[in-house]
Amino acid sequence: MNMKKMLLMLAMLAVAGVAQAQGKLNVVASTEDLASIAAEVGGDRIAVEAIAKGYQDPHFVEAKPSFILRLQRADLLIVVGKELEIGWLPPLITQSRNAKVQVGASGYLDASLQAKILDLPTTQITRAMGDVHPFGNPHYWLDPANGKLIAKSIGAKLAELRPNDRTFFDQRVADFSARLDVAEKRWLAQLAPYKGAKVVTYHRSYPNLADRFGLDIVGYVEPRPGIPPTPQHTLDLIAEMKRQNVKVVMVEPYFDLKTPNAIGRETGAQVLVLPPSVGGVKEITNYIALFDYDVNLLANALKQATGK
Ligand SMILES: [Zn+2]
Repeated sequence: MNMKKMLLMLAMLAVAGVAQAQGKLNVVASTEDLASIAAEVGGDRIAVEAIAKGYQDPHFVEAKPSFILRLQRADLLIVVGKELEIGWLPPLITQSRNAKVQVGASGYLDASLQAKILDLPTTQITRAMGDVHPFGNPHYWLDPANGKLIAKSIGAKLAELRPNDRTFFDQRVADFSARLDVAEKRWLAQLAPYKGAKVVTYHRSYPNLADRFGLDIVGYVEPRPGIPPTPQHTLDLIAEMKRQNVKVVMVEPYFDLKTPNAIGRETGAQVLVLPPSVGGVKEITNYIALFDYDVNLLANALKQATGK
């Protein structure tokens, strides 16, 4: 190979490298759930990272300098919204000084805008009582129907940023939705015998899950979302659970088990640690695996509780 040919080849390789670097969108998701859905939709056209880990309370994440570095490089930031990340994400976005991912910019996607949101406020919105869900429930990803809506909005956004790949993203959204539909039938069948089962949850993380799979949440260990248990509220809850014969308490992995265990001892209810997110335990590697894991856990607990 002569020198001219070699130089030409090197130049071509360099161009190909640049094209590839431009081709891959850098996506940052605030949570592992959104990162998992983004990976399903974006495939090899994106590189995606999550900020909060699935085993952390997504309302309260310790901000690290490395998060700012990720946001500096991002072409797209996907957030859960409904103020889930209000306590930690806004300063990171500001400090990234990345114009693309500022709130309202084209590289900022609030996944809640297209999703079905429960617990919408009926009175004047206030955080005065410490309620961390003032604009409706931000744990909406725990319904596969919302998973499909999230995928659709991510697909639309990726296509907006990379119009040439629109067909690719559309196909992946359709494929993911079809796989979710198949899996949802399985989950519904698994939980069908326990339709209407009464449960209590620690935080208000599971209204969408309960709604989809027919569970009846009759109370919460927290007096209000984000407010730790108080002795009086715990006594009231125990009385209510005895009255309604509630036999399962669902607890997110990041809460202290002292109060739930005390409630379990008083009422005979099982305390079930149920991860609400991808990455909550290491087996939950993606969005579909999240429901596989949780539905299994719930079905086993409800089987024990009801004898069905
Ligand atoms: Zn919450």
